[in-house]
Amino acid sequence: MPLPITRFAPSPTGRLHLGHAYSALFAYEKVYATGGKFILRIEDIDPVRCKPEYEAGIYEDLRWLGLAWEFPVRLQSHYMLDYEDALGKLHAQDLLYPCFCSRKDIRDEIEQMGVAPHGPEGEIYPGICKALSPQEQEDRIAAGDPYAFRLDMDKAIKIAGKNLEWVDLGKGKQIATPEILGDVVLARKDISTCYHLSVTLDDHIQGITTVTRGMDLFYATHLHRLLQELLKLNVPEWHHHDLLLDENGKRLAKRDKAVTLQHLREVEKIAPQEVQTRTGIILPY
Ligand code: GLU
Repeated sequence: MPLPITRFAPSPTGRLHLGHAYSALFAYEKVYATGGKFILRIEDIDPVRCKPEYEAGIYEDLRWLGLAWEFPVRLQSHYMLDYEDALGKLHAQDLLYPCFCSRKDIRDEIEQMGVAPHGPEGEIYPGICKALSPQEQEDRIAAGDPYAFRLDMDKAIKIAGKNLEWVDLGKGKQIATPEILGDVVLARKDISTCYHLSVTLDDHIQGITTVTRGMDLFYATHLHRLLQELLKLNVPEWHHHDLLLDENGKRLAKRDKAVTLQHLREVEKIAPQEVQTRTGIILPY
């Protein structure tokens, strides 16, 4: 049995909060007693929202929590060529098409349609740009119109097959139904990747055996399983955990300073063990 490898993969777009601590401890708990590896990955593909001071804050907060991770830490922004290469493999299978729609174009189209196709995360892309001819695509790109690349979901499923399975350690065996997400965006004109593509590739490259993350990404896993098949990547297990909620039943947010680990440490002066108590994951170290 290979030793487990888990990861915590935050985006440096704000300070970590109690929910992140829960997620990191959840991943850590799965490996610390077995001699497996806990990997920290910095998901910083968005140059506008990600800031070096938040990256430094992640190291500071996790060290304070008493966690130790593998070195070197993979910063996604240093590996854009890997993602471009993966995107190229999808292009080679003719699975991507350029989409020039603004949010407003999509909203207008959906309004006109009357009934919008819905997925678990809201309305799905109504396929406007799928109908463009190669010539129209070329002309608009040449004219400098901004665009993103979308996955042709029907074609992708035809290639990968319908009965892809994946296992969530909490919820059991799942049959992948990526079609519920529609033709998702996989890259933008200026960033040749997106969360889905880079996370799936990195989990493969880093040999992750158990992908741990919040329930909010449960549906994304259907798509990640499809991408693994299309790109011939390893298939790990997943364990999606519940999300910590505030006293009003709302998800914790990075913009709410009161729940950040920095605030708990510096203002409330709580001990790291208290974070374990509050998250319910108590590590005997
Ligand atoms: N980077 C993502 C986030 O901060 C998490 C990705 C994942 O764990 O798959 O929400």
